[in-house]
Amino acid sequence: MSKENLRFNSKLIHGGGYKNKLGAVNVPIYQSSTFEFITAEEGARCFNGESDGYIYTRLGNPTIHVLERTVAELENGFGGIATSSGMGAVSTIYMALLSKGDHIVSSDAVYGPSRGLMEDHFSRFGVESTYVNTSDIENIKKAIRPNTKVLYLETPANPTIDISDLKACSEIAKANNLLMVVDNTFSSPYLQRPIEFGADVVFHSITKFINGHADVVGGVIVAKEEALYKKLRSMMIAMGCNMDPHQAYLVIRGLKTLAIRVDRAQQNAIVLADFLEKHPKVEWIKYPGLKSHPQYELAKKQMDGPGAMISFGLKGGLEAGRKLMNSVKVAILAVSLGGVETLIEHPASMTHSKVSLADKKKAGISDGLVRLSVGIEDVDDLLRDLDQALAEV
Ligand SMILES: *Cc1c(COP(=O)(O)O)cnc(C)c1O
Repeated sequence: MSKENLRFNSKLIHGGGYKNKLGAVNVPIYQSSTFEFITAEEGARCFNGESDGYIYTRLGNPTIHVLERTVAELENGFGGIATSSGMGAVSTIYMALLSKGDHIVSSDAVYGPSRGLMEDHFSRFGVESTYVNTSDIENIKKAIRPNTKVLYLETPANPTIDISDLKACSEIAKANNLLMVVDNTFSSPYLQRPIEFGADVVFHSITKFINGHADVVGGVIVAKEEALYKKLRSMMIAMGCNMDPHQAYLVIRGLKTLAIRVDRAQQNAIVLADFLEKHPKVEWIKYPGLKSHPQYELAKKQMDGPGAMISFGLKGGLEAGRKLMNSVKVAILAVSLGGVETLIEHPASMTHSKVSLADKKKAGISDGLVRLSVGIEDVDDLLRDLDQALAEV
C-alpha cells in the first residue's frame, strides 16, 4: 500500500505527503524569508511555474505547505491556503470572489467580524450583502438577486448553534450560479466536510479546533477545484496575509491530535449538555446532540458528531449570565473556542457586541445567551464547576 487514500486519523499523522531528505520524522520549521535559486535559469522556472521550487515565504514555504496539503486532504479539496488569521481567510475569500456591484447572501448568525468586514468595509467598494437565517432554505431563495455571486454559510452558526442544510443549500447555489462558501470552524474537518455536500470553498479559523492549544492565531482556506484554488491563492499572496512558518509548525503539531481532542471534548459536551438541559435555572439550551435541537436529525445527517460547542440561556437573562461567568472556577472566562481548556463567554457583550441590537435580535443572539466551548478536562470537574456556579446564580 502507499500513503495515498489514508483514512482520517492516519491523514492527521501522515498527511501532506512530506518526506524529509535528512530523515527528520517531525516537519522542520523553515524559518527563511527567501530561498536560493541554484541557477538563474532555475529562478526563472520557479517564477513562470515550470518548477515548484520555493521563492519567497509570502508565496509559499515548505513548512506551511505541509499544513496546507494536510488540511486540503482532510477536507477532500484540491488545495489549501494558509492565512495569518481566520479573518485573513475571510478577507481573502471576499476579495477574490466579489467585485463592485456584486451581492452576497450570508447566514445572519455568523462570526461577528465576518459580518462587520462586509457591512462596514466591503460596502464602501459597492458590494451588497443580505443576512438571513440560512437554516430555512426559503429565506435564501428569497434573498437571491440577479447580482448575487456568493452564498456564505456558517454551520453550526456562531453563537446560536443553528444548522444549515449543506446539501440543500448547495443545490440552490448551483441552480443560481453562486459559489458556496462554508465557515467550518465550529466542526473542524473531523466532524464535517462541506465539500462532500457540494461546497466550493471551505475555511477555518485555525486558531480554534485545528490548532486547539490557544497558542496560535491563523486561518486556512480549502478550495474544491484548481481554478478557484489558484484565484484564492493569488489573492492571499497579493494581500500579504500569509501564515508564518513558525505558526504553521505549531499548527501541524496541534493538528495531529485533532481527532482525539475533539472526541474527548465532545464526550464531555454531551454530559454537560444533558446536565444543563435538566437544570432548573437553565431556560433553554442549543446543542446538536440533544433531541431538543430543532435540527437534531439534520445534524446527524451531515455531521459525524455534535461537537463541543453549547449555547444556553439562563432564567434571569444577562444578570444571571454575568453571575455565572463570574462564578466559574475551572472554566475560563474568555472568547475564542476549540481549545483543550473549557471557555465560557457572553456573545451579546463580547464577540457580537458590534452587531446592532436589532440584528442581534433577528439573528437569535439574546442578551442571556451564554456560549460554552467544552475542553478535555475531567468531566466531573466541569460538572462540579457548573453546578457550584449555577448555585450562585
Ligand atoms: C474565530 C473565528 C473566526 C475568525 O478567526 P481569527 O483566527 O480570530 O481571525 C471566523 N469564524 C469563526 C466561526 C470563528 O470562530
